[in-house]
Amino acid sequence: MKAIADLHSHSTYSDGRGTVTENIRAAAAIGLERYAITDHGPQNIGVGVGDENKYLVIKEEVRGLRENFPDLQVLVGAEADIISLEGDIDLSRETIEALELLIVGLHPYVWPKTWKDGWDFVLSNQTLRVTRSMEEKVRCRNTKALVEAMARYPVDIVSHPNLEMPVEIREVARACHKYGSAYEINTGHNFQTIEDVLTAAKEGVTFVVNSDAHFPESIGRLDIGIELLERAGVSPEQTLNLKAEQ
Ligand SMILES: [Zn+2]
Ligand SMILES: [Zn+2]
Repeated sequence: MKAIADLHSHSTYSDGRGTVTENIRAAAAIGLERYAITDHGPQNIGVGVGDENKYLVIKEEVRGLRENFPDLQVLVGAEADIISLEGDIDLSRETIEALELLIVGLHPYVWPKTWKDGWDFVLSNQTLRVTRSMEEKVRCRNTKALVEAMARYPVDIVSHPNLEMPVEIREVARACHKYGSAYEINTGHNFQTIEDVLTAAKEGVTFVVNSDAHFPESIGRLDIGIELLERAGVSPEQTLNLKAEQ
């Protein structure tokens, strides 16, 4: 299989090293048909966009660049953070509507919605670094928060399920299928197992392979993810951004 799109990457508006222009140029240079800039939501500590109006600034910047790259469709999206046990995310409805792609993911270092979320959701994940006894409880809470987010928002893609914050893969995959959110294979972090892919595939998910690039040169580096899906017997029709190689 071959990738025609890379739908998860970061620019200097969050913690990426490439400017919007550098990223778009890199995506066009490798011949992608579609590419998305999805900077971190504002409540991601230290790396978020700071203010959600930044997404409108990025959109404006991209609008000015589109005519230079006529063969590349550029989408401006966000990788939003889950900030409560009820699946709240760190973007307003207005911003979500203005975005062309909504990725939602669990990240360990976020400003929680309330003090209670700070304790039950954010800090409980931190305790996993010292003790494994909390793991089942935390996995259950993380899964619930992620599934709730899919139920409440128009989530196009769930980023890196099971990275740093454990989730129940089957439950997440079931929700992805139910709510029409793609299940991401993330080559930037490259942590996913074939067992997880098989479990998710069994629930009928649509996969997407993304680089989560933080450097222009990482955009479109999707081979490890494509190979993983091929080994699991996933076909291009079960993906958002792969096609059969000629
Ligand atoms: Zn992420
Ligand atoms: Zn990311």
